[in-house]
Amino acid sequence: MSSFSSLGLSQPLLKAIQQLGFEQPSPIQELAIPALLAREGDAVALAQTGTGKTAAFGLPLLQHLETPQGFVQALILAPTRELAQQITTQLDQLARYAHGLEVLTVFGGAPIGPQAKTARQNPAIIVATPGRLIDLMERRAVKLDQLRFLVLDEADEMLNMGFQEELERILTETPAEKATWLFSATMPAAVRKIAKRYLREPQELHSSTGAEVNTDIAHHYALVHQRQKGAALGRFIDSAPQMRGLVFCRTKRETQELAEALLKRRYRADALHGDLSQPQRDRVMKRFREQELQVLVATDVAARGIDVNDLTHVFHHNLPDDAAFYTHRSGRTARAGKKGLSVVLLDRRDEYKLKRMAKQLGISFQEAAVPSAEDIKKEHLLRWHEEVAAMAPPMGISEDMWRAARERLDHLTREELLARLMQRELDQLSIQEVDDAPQPRKGNKGPKGFKGGKGPRGKKGSYADKWRKGPGKNQGGSRGKGGQKSFRKGKK
Ligand code: AMP
Repeated sequence: MSSFSSLGLSQPLLKAIQQLGFEQPSPIQELAIPALLAREGDAVALAQTGTGKTAAFGLPLLQHLETPQGFVQALILAPTRELAQQITTQLDQLARYAHGLEVLTVFGGAPIGPQAKTARQNPAIIVATPGRLIDLMERRAVKLDQLRFLVLDEADEMLNMGFQEELERILTETPAEKATWLFSATMPAAVRKIAKRYLREPQELHSSTGAEVNTDIAHHYALVHQRQKGAALGRFIDSAPQMRGLVFCRTKRETQELAEALLKRRYRADALHGDLSQPQRDRVMKRFREQELQVLVATDVAARGIDVNDLTHVFHHNLPDDAAFYTHRSGRTARAGKKGLSVVLLDRRDEYKLKRMAKQLGISFQEAAVPSAEDIKKEHLLRWHEEVAAMAPPMGISEDMWRAARERLDHLTREELLARLMQRELDQLSIQEVDDAPQPRKGNKGPKGFKGGKGPRGKKGSYADKWRKGPGKNQGGSRGKGGQKSFRKGKK
């Protein structure tokens, strides 16, 4: 692995990188930075969110740009307001010691007047959502006739969100000689079509070493009956109290109901979906960011652009219909070089969908058991023991209190007293019932169905074998009693 200083970056940029605490370039940065510095032409890069893609295009972009010229030199398009704002924040940080370039963010859902006013001052870089940019172009508030660089960030997401027409218009109405850099987490046909039609001999930034796949994510699935998924989720949360997670649902209703069920059981959870107003969304996100919420339940659309770096888990309450959505969902964890776990709560009826998805995405899913009540109790008591052992000597207990305690408790042995205290701790837990092993399909031996020598369809070397292989270096599961995999925190 190379260092940032060997990638050809200028001193002011290297200084900013050092201040940000980035020690080594991520794989996509190692690949894209020298390539984009060396050649100003078009490029297509496959990069998932969380892999450091913003700096991968941001650094070469900043190096190519000149001091403020009185016209817009670069335009970066992003699918959501949140992502646009994150890009601006990152660029501001990276450009801290570079030539005073101004970055303006414009996005829908906010008054256009002030954005138009600032845009008329021709900042060097504009970061925009496509719809709002078109509005500003139509008002002639944005002039792009000398644009040198156009970056499409999360191109697949922009197309998913219905921005095709806007993108094509922006691509056509900006100077033909500009360089276009298309970044996308997935390469569906629609993205390829855009690249083919509008990019000239783009250099392809896909690495065979997996720069585009976030290998820090372990992909697991747990077999659970549909109706017990909420309870199973509760068990996962209980078994890993340090977890911070996103739970994906397919519909707004499912999102709201699951969040309410979790809240009722006193989990620090809330919902994020399209029926919320922008201020409500902002409030939920603020609480999540400030760790007041441990778990956020969201729809795919609402979760777009969420940038929280220290998520340990992503749960899939239901699988998405589209495999690309799985990539986007799981990419919310394991950001900035951290490890993360993506767990699919899978009803046996949906096995075929997971099989299809594993094949399409080329990833292996490893089976994980829903944490047992015993696991959760043990984990809880372990923490309790540690907390008690770490306590400062109690100071607030008076002589009278001691006397009263001795009168009532002196007849108990040390073991009896400890046992009662532990039981009191355990009584505070409300562990919900989850059937231990969903019924295997007819003809399949063993409780898990997948454990025989054959896969579910009886074919050797089928997807079941592939799933079992697991992603290798960062397993979240471990073998517990009876050879079943268990799911513990701290094993990542
Ligand atoms: P991105 O994929 O651009 O959304 O980046 C995800 C996060 O990783 C951001 O918070 C960046 O600040 C951080 N990041 C980017 N590059 C590096 C790096 N080389 N080392 C550590 N963190 C990084």
